[in-house]
Amino acid sequence: MTDFPRSNLWHASAQEQFSGAALAEDLSAELIIVGGGFTGCAAALEAARRGASVVLLEAHVIGHGGSGRNVGLVNAGLWLPPDDIIAQMGEAAGGRLIEELGQGPERVFALIEREGIACEATRAGTLHLAHAPSGVADLESRFRQGNRIGAPVQLLDAEETRRRSGSGEFHGALLDPRAGTVQPLSYCRGLARAAAAAGARIFEHAQVSEISRDGSGWQLRCNGHRLRGARLLIAINAYHEGLPAAYRPSFVTVSYSQFATAPLPDGLREKVLPGGEGCWDTALVMSSFRIDRAGRLILGGMGDAEGPARALHGDWARRKLRRVYPELGDIGFEHAWRGQIAMTRDHVPKIVRLGSSALSIFGYSGRGIAPGTVFGAAAAEALLEGTEAALPIAPIEAYSERFTRVMGGYYEAGAALTHALKPGLLG
Ligand SMILES: Cc1cc2nc3c(=O)[nH]c(=O)nc-3n(C[C@H](O)[C@H](O)[C@H](O)COP(=O)(O)OP(=O)(O)OC[C@H]3O[C@@H](n4cnc5c(N)ncnc54)[C@H](O)[C@@H]3O)c2cc1C
Repeated sequence: MTDFPRSNLWHASAQEQFSGAALAEDLSAELIIVGGGFTGCAAALEAARRGASVVLLEAHVIGHGGSGRNVGLVNAGLWLPPDDIIAQMGEAAGGRLIEELGQGPERVFALIEREGIACEATRAGTLHLAHAPSGVADLESRFRQGNRIGAPVQLLDAEETRRRSGSGEFHGALLDPRAGTVQPLSYCRGLARAAAAAGARIFEHAQVSEISRDGSGWQLRCNGHRLRGARLLIAINAYHEGLPAAYRPSFVTVSYSQFATAPLPDGLREKVLPGGEGCWDTALVMSSFRIDRAGRLILGGMGDAEGPARALHGDWARRKLRRVYPELGDIGFEHAWRGQIAMTRDHVPKIVRLGSSALSIFGYSGRGIAPGTVFGAAAAEALLEGTEAALPIAPIEAYSERFTRVMGGYYEAGAALTHALKPGLLG
């Protein structure tokens, strides 16, 4: 049994710093945003650039939630392949969402450049790796669907996959050149910094505890202060806390953990992901790999490495690394951390309308960097301009899922069981 430190690499390596003010008075604004992740910060930036007065309230610090814990793959689209999105949402609505999210990475990387965000932005594409022959069939289907909608994806054979990944473990890959990687916490802090520079007032350690209607607007309680907003955006996703049930998002919580090595020595760095693509695989209990700017290999997998099965997930990570990159030998992990994903039943994010002047956005189902940026900015526009046409998907009146605890336990048990099995028994 192996042990590893509990620490989030993104906090140790972040180049962007951000410090929000302490809320010390009653305030009013045209737009109040609850939650300082990608969604809330992108919305604050958009609103401030439009000249609106905007207040953002974050219960902890900027990037406390999924935005400061994720893998950093800036992907185009959702997990779901295009045909599934169309089947669920219909041709027009599904096509609109696919189109908007297809441009998501371009918007993220352009925004990073415009605002000068120091977040290790690397636009080298992503590789969706076939973990088994069945994975190749999945990728071929995604390739055909991508081609039909004009996505510039490329199907790679096993040899080219070996060359790019530096591992002989995979049977092929789907390369998406639109995508790339970022240091996610730095990206989130950079959004907050840019929003504050544009005039947004951002408060940390400011947990909203009450929300009520106030005429056509909203009134919130936070740290004993009263805030009034003409418009309200709730962007708290999987890390919601302290809000009354009516304002809490509904989803199944799925844990995902990551393990980062020390920077690889030069001789090895050239062999492991030499082109710097971000990777994840086709397995049902999926894994991810990427390299950061310092040359650390970051391995991710489903499961809670801070929960009761911590040792089991840690042992899996070590075995998995040895199997995929045997030349790394027994290199240890310097960082290990966990995050929680808000998974919806259909794996499509939700925008819930709370009357005519408020929206709640959640349920990115593990794809929130580009979607959070796109949805956040669109929500600010929709709320401030009074036009829902700006939103990538139509808002709904309410959203609720049942048996979420049972389903969450089921995902964790599945991940723990898969990780307990030795390689070769299960992909
Ligand atoms: C481990 C992991 C890996 C992932 N990998 C990827 C990836 O590679 N690519 C990708 O695109 N997506 C990925 N995702 C998904 C992505 O990180 C999320 O979808 C995204 O961060 C959601 O952003 P958000 O702003 O909506 O929510 P969050 O970033 O979770 O922010 C919500 C914020 O609201 C605050 N909050 C909660 N309650 C209150 C309150 N009452 N008052 C004030 N503030 C409150 C929280 O403190 C939190 O900071 C991953 C997620 C996880 C967890």
